[in-house]
Amino acid sequence: MTTKKENISCPVCGKKGTWTTDNSYRPFCSSRCKLIDLGDWAAEKHRVPGEPANNQQEPEDKDEE
Ligand SMILES: [Zn+2]
Repeated sequence: MTTKKENISCPVCGKKGTWTTDNSYRPFCSSRCKLIDLGDWAAEKHRVPGEPANNQQEPEDKDEE
């Protein structure tokens, strides 16, 4: 028989625990961590590094005579 339990570590606080598949907070340990993660996304903390913050426009090469 398969148990409806999973051993996962919370991606927010790293807390290890056994959660049932009924846990609506998965993969978080609690609603608190879920909200924290959502807050991070809202604050764009999960932004992918490497992209320049300043998007410089292409210099217009107008050479009108
Ligand atoms: Zn947590």
